[in-house]
Amino acid sequence: MKNPLLFSGEADYTQVYISINYLVLMSHALLVEVALAIPLRKQFSYLCPLEFELPVIGSRVCVPFGSRSLTGIVTAHLERGEINLNKLKAITDCLDSETLQPSTMLKMLKWASNYYVYSLGEIYQQALPVLLRKGASTDIVQQQVWQLTPLGKSTDSETLIRAKKQHQAFELFEQHPPQTTEQLRQLDISAATQKALLQKELIEQVSLALPLPCAWNEQQLNSDDRHRLNPEQAICVAAINAKASFQTSLLLGITGSGKTEVYLQALESVIAAGKQALILVPEIGLTPQTLHRFQSRFNVPIVFLHSGLNDKERLDGWLRARAGQAAIIIGTRSAIFTPMVAPGIIIVDEEHDNSFKQQDTFRYNARDLAVVRAHLENIPLVLGSATPSLETLHNAKSGKYQLLNLTKRAANASEASHQIIDIKGVQLQSGMSPQLLELIKHHLTRGNQVMLFLNRRGYAPALLCHECGWLGECQRCDAHYTVHQRYQYIQCHHCGSQHPLPKQCPDCSSTQLVTAGVGTEQLELTLNDLFPDYKTVRIDRDSTRRKGALDKSIAGINNNDYQILIGTQMLAKGHHFPNVTLVALLDVDGALFSADFRANEKLAQLYLQVAGRAGRASKPGQVVLQSHHPEHQLLQRLSQEGYLPFTESALIERKAAQLPPFWHIALLRIESHDNTQIQQFIAELNKHSGQLLVQLSSKETPVRQIGPMPAPMERRAGRFRWQVIFESSKRSQLHKFVVMLSDQLAHTKSNRYVRWSLDVDPTDMV
Ligand code: ADP
Ligand code: ZN
Ligand code: ZN
Repeated sequence: MKNPLLFSGEADYTQVYISINYLVLMSHALLVEVALAIPLRKQFSYLCPLEFELPVIGSRVCVPFGSRSLTGIVTAHLERGEINLNKLKAITDCLDSETLQPSTMLKMLKWASNYYVYSLGEIYQQALPVLLRKGASTDIVQQQVWQLTPLGKSTDSETLIRAKKQHQAFELFEQHPPQTTEQLRQLDISAATQKALLQKELIEQVSLALPLPCAWNEQQLNSDDRHRLNPEQAICVAAINAKASFQTSLLLGITGSGKTEVYLQALESVIAAGKQALILVPEIGLTPQTLHRFQSRFNVPIVFLHSGLNDKERLDGWLRARAGQAAIIIGTRSAIFTPMVAPGIIIVDEEHDNSFKQQDTFRYNARDLAVVRAHLENIPLVLGSATPSLETLHNAKSGKYQLLNLTKRAANASEASHQIIDIKGVQLQSGMSPQLLELIKHHLTRGNQVMLFLNRRGYAPALLCHECGWLGECQRCDAHYTVHQRYQYIQCHHCGSQHPLPKQCPDCSSTQLVTAGVGTEQLELTLNDLFPDYKTVRIDRDSTRRKGALDKSIAGINNNDYQILIGTQMLAKGHHFPNVTLVALLDVDGALFSADFRANEKLAQLYLQVAGRAGRASKPGQVVLQSHHPEHQLLQRLSQEGYLPFTESALIERKAAQLPPFWHIALLRIESHDNTQIQQFIAELNKHSGQLLVQLSSKETPVRQIGPMPAPMERRAGRFRWQVIFESSKRSQLHKFVVMLSDQLAHTKSNRYVRWSLDVDPTDMV
C-alpha cells in the first residue's frame, strides 16, 4: 500500500503509522478541497502532508494535476468520509498563511459559479490579479525613503559649506519629509551627492511604515469645490445614507443633473466612518477627470484600476484595497473583484453600460455581481444612470430597488431642442444632408462646437469593383472589409485580419475600385474640406489607440482647440463639453430593424447619452438625427418625450413578447472550424434537451428552446457559429435546466470537437 502520508520508517511499523495517520485525518481534517482553473465544474480533493499546516480556506496551494503542477484555491476542509485515500495526491506547497479574499468574496464567487454555470476554479483565478495567479506574494511592497540619520539631525549644515551641492542637498533634507529616490531626483539631488551624504552617514534609507488600515475620518474631507446641493440632490444623498446596511438605490438622473455630486457627498459619511468605497465606471469613464474629481474632494488614498496599469501596479492596488490602505477604489468591470477590509458602499455609474458585461470566458455582469456583493457585505449599493437598463428599471418599479430621481440639470443649463431630418431621396455628402451642413455652419459661426456621431470607424464599411461588382469580403468571417484610407489598408472588424488596400480588382483586374458607405475617417476628411477654418478632432478606437491620446483629445476639446468633434460611441459617454451646442446622429437606421430584441433599448440609451452632450452650460443645445424613417414611432418618442416614456412602452412590449426582464434567457453558443462536428453536437444536444424539457417544464413554468440556429454572423474568424436560446418565466427553473444540460453535454462524445459556452442573461445575441 502506497500512502503519501508515510514517513520512511521501518517496514514493521508501517501499519502502525498508517493507523495513526488515519486517526489524525479523522480528527483534524487533513484533506482539502481545491478549486483549479480548469473548465470542469468540480473541485478536487488533496491530502495535506504532515509537514504543512492545514491551509486555510481561500488560500493558494500548489498541487499535481495529471502531469502538470497547478495553483489552486482551497475551498473546504474535508472529512475523511467515503474518500478513498489511496487515490489521492498530496499538495506540494502552500503559498498563503491567510485567505486571499474575505469570506463574503468567496461566497460571491461561489454564487457566481453556480449562477453562471462556470468553473469555480476559473472564476477564482479571474478574480485575482495576474501576478497572484502566478504565485506572487501578498506582501505589500513598502516604499523605500531617504531621511536624515540621528547624526544628520544633530549636524550643522554649515560644516558642509565647502561642498556646495552636498550643502544644498542637506538643507533640502532638513526641509522635506522622507523622500523616495525618484523624489530626490525631482529635487535635483544627484546620485553622486546622495552617495556622498550616505558615506558621511548623514542620510539613510528606511522602509516607510504602512499606515494603519482605514485610518481616515471626517478630517480628510475637502469642501473647497463642494456644491450646495439642490433639494432633489439633497433628498438623494439623505436616502442613500439613510441606511448603512444593504439597500439598492437606482439614482435616475438626466445627464448633467449632478449625479456625480450626489456620489461624492454620499461618500462623505462613508469616509468619515473610516470605511471604503468601491466605484465601478464604464471602460470609457475612467479618465483623469474622474480621478481628479474624487482626489480634490477627499484627501485619502485612492486606487485607480485602469487598463493602462501593468501587472505590478494592478497587484499593488488590489493588495492596498485588501489591506485597508485605500479608501476609494475606482475601476472598470473587473474591479468588482477587489477585496476590501471595511467595505462601506458600492456605486455603479452608468449602470446600463454594456462594458459591465464580460463577453467571453466567464460571462458575468459586474452590475449584477455588485448587487450580490452589496447584499453579502450588507452595505448600500447605488446604481446611477440617465438611461437605466430595463432590468434595473423593472426592479425599481417593483419596489426591489429604491428609486431616486434627479429631474433637473444642476448647473442651470436648459434642455436641448430635438429635430429629425428626413433623408429619404436626399443627396448626402459623406452621409450628411444639406440641412445638417447648414446647421453645422450656423453653430460654428457663432463660436460654438458641434459634435457628429457615427458608430462606424474607418473610411468606409465596404470596398467594391465598379466594373464587375466584386465585394471585399473577409475570408474568415461573414463580413465585409472596412477601408482605412489614411494608412491604406482594409481590415475586417470582426477578426482583425488586415491587408494592404488593393489597387486592382482581384476578379477582373479593373482599377475602378470604389468605397460604399461612410465611416468616421471619411467624415473627418470631408468636414476638413467643407470647413477649412475650423479644426476637427476624431475620437474612435483608431484615433485613441496610442496611450494618452484620448486624454489629450479631450483636453484639446475643453481648451477649444477643436470646433468639430467626430466620434463613435466613445465620444457619447460621460464627458462634459460646455461649448457643444449641436449634436447630430448621422445614421442609426440599422438599429430600427435589428434582430436583437435589445436594439431599441440600446438605441434609446445612445440617443439620450449623445443628446445629453448638447448645451451643457448656459448655451441652449440642439439635437438632430438623420433618418430614412423619420415617422418611426421609436424615433418620434425619443425626440419628443424622452427616455422614461420610451421605457414604459418598451416594458409592455417585453412583457407581451415574453422577454427579459419578465422572462429569463440563457444562450448556448457552439463554435467549430468544422460544421459537421457542430451538427453532431447539435444532434446530441437535442436528444438531451428534449428529455430535460419534458422532465422540467410544467404548464405553469415552461422552459422553452429556440434553435439550434446559425448565429447572426454564421462564420467568424474561420469558425462556424451556432446558437440555442433557452428561456423560462421562472429563473430557478431555467437554472435547473441549464445546469443539468451542461453536465450532460460535458459527457457527450462530440463535446470534445466543438467549443461551446453558456451565457446566462446574455446582452449580445450576435
Ligand atoms: P451628471 O453626473 O449627472 O452628468 P455632474 O455631477 O457631472 O452630472 O454635474 C453636472 C454639472 O453640474 C457639473 O459641472 C457639476 O459641477 C455641476 N453641479 C452638480 N451639482 C451642482 C449643484 N448642486 N449646484 C451647482 N452645480 C452643480
Ligand atoms: Zn472587378
Ligand atoms: Zn474577419
